[in-house]
Amino acid sequence: MTMTMTLTVPPRSANSRLAGLPVAVIGAGPVGLAAAAHLLERGLDVVIFEAGSRAGSAIAEWAHTRLFSPWTYLLDPASVRLLEATGWHAPNGEHSPTGGDLLDSYLAPLAHTPALQPRIRLGSRVTAVSRQGMDRTRSSGRAGTPFLLRVEHGGTTTDVLARAVIDTSGTWRTPNPLTAAGLEPTIGADRIVTGLPDVLGRDRDRFAGKRVLVVGAGHSAANSLLALAALPHTQISWAIRNPTAARVFTGADDQLPDRASIGHRVDQLVATGRITLVDQFEIDAIDASDESGDSGAGVRALGRRAGIPFSLDADVIVNATGFRPDLELLREVRLGLDDIVEAPRALAPLIDPNLHSCGTVPPHGVAELTHPEPNFFIAGMKSYGRAPTFLLATGYEQVRSIADELADNHEGARIVNLVLPETGVCSTSPADSGCCGAPDAESATIGASCCR
Ligand SMILES: Cc1cc2nc3c(=O)[nH]c(=O)nc-3n(C[C@H](O)[C@H](O)[C@H](O)COP(=O)(O)OP(=O)(O)OC[C@H]3O[C@@H](n4cnc5c(N)ncnc54)[C@H](O)[C@@H]3O)c2cc1C
Repeated sequence: MTMTMTLTVPPRSANSRLAGLPVAVIGAGPVGLAAAAHLLERGLDVVIFEAGSRAGSAIAEWAHTRLFSPWTYLLDPASVRLLEATGWHAPNGEHSPTGGDLLDSYLAPLAHTPALQPRIRLGSRVTAVSRQGMDRTRSSGRAGTPFLLRVEHGGTTTDVLARAVIDTSGTWRTPNPLTAAGLEPTIGADRIVTGLPDVLGRDRDRFAGKRVLVVGAGHSAANSLLALAALPHTQISWAIRNPTAARVFTGADDQLPDRASIGHRVDQLVATGRITLVDQFEIDAIDASDESGDSGAGVRALGRRAGIPFSLDADVIVNATGFRPDLELLREVRLGLDDIVEAPRALAPLIDPNLHSCGTVPPHGVAELTHPEPNFFIAGMKSYGRAPTFLLATGYEQVRSIADELADNHEGARIVNLVLPETGVCSTSPADSGCCGAPDAESATIGASCCR
């Protein structure tokens, strides 16, 4: 059953077809909630669709992992203003929280503020975005035609109208495939774990005493390696595509000490032989293994090492090769995306991991985030496409700028202010590939020299 629902809100737009419609935000992660807070401050109404059962449901899946940024860089100013009105106090700014802390001390209280709570639709997955009665081929009157979002909720499909759309749905549910070709392996899916398994908690039995192959050269891989090393009798191999894991073995000039510490500890475990580093390994396929580990027959990663055929057996593989945006729901939207990074065209050169570290990405806002589709924006993690360099502070400034634009403060929207911590994780030198040390910096397809 498909219904069309119009939310009742005060008129904002002079255009009669857009009057009374809210701005639709896709995803109640930290950036989606921040977008809503900024829009409400400017008197624009908003509805937030969240596929999960709670705000921050992607973060809930890596709640056991500690962020490398301290609280100072994790709080959005407009969201803080909403929270402080409820008597909330900010956590200690110097301390780096876990994902669980971020949820409990910030996102959950924010989602429960009187301003946001009635506007969040939980369990509501946006499956498509279009214009009312107008697919992407129709040009006439496009800007004045309401957006139409198809939303699935508890077995019911509803079409919802909106005057503008901000897609902050992240990339967590679309990890990069394991193979160097960027395609899913045809077999072995039951032996591959993606993302950040809770190795020392929930997922312990899957890894304890096993032969584990971790693939990827970013901080997700590093976090998993550190946890695996704490499990006795677990054999750990670590496959990367480049000759060195320079992005994990961080520099002393990283202004985020928690991130520097992760790299240092992994470096030591490699040096002592606890972790076997297999560099220059490009995986082409996963096959059944004829060697059996403690858990029976395992899998074999087949490919090339420095160009020579090579294979590695394991009981379980952790795919930590990064993420890519889900663009399927945006098929009817006119997007202007870079061919390589899949970020907005004007943003892509600013975040190219071959050139920029997390700290050197220049501040940017609506001017760089604009698509050919009027009043449609991708912000947050998803706006970086396949680039791994995203930081929350960047996303908060993105949505502040977008909110100003939608509130007709075009000048304010184009003044962007952002100071990010410099990092020694990713050199700006293309010579060592310059890939960023953000959590999942292993995208296989960004630029020619990007590593994983
Ligand atoms: C392990 C890890 C550590 C990190 N550490 C740091 C750090 O220290 N500092 C830092 O600045 N950044 C860090 N990041 C990067 C980044 O800030 C986070 O990934 C952050 O969660 C991104 O926020 P977001 O709001 O853009 O997306 P998300 O947090 O991914 O939120 C997106 C939301 O959209 C929902 N959604 C998805 N699809 C749909 C749909 N179709 N319809 C409706 N809802 C949908 C999801 O359920 C989710 O709740 C880290 C990331 C990871 C994975």
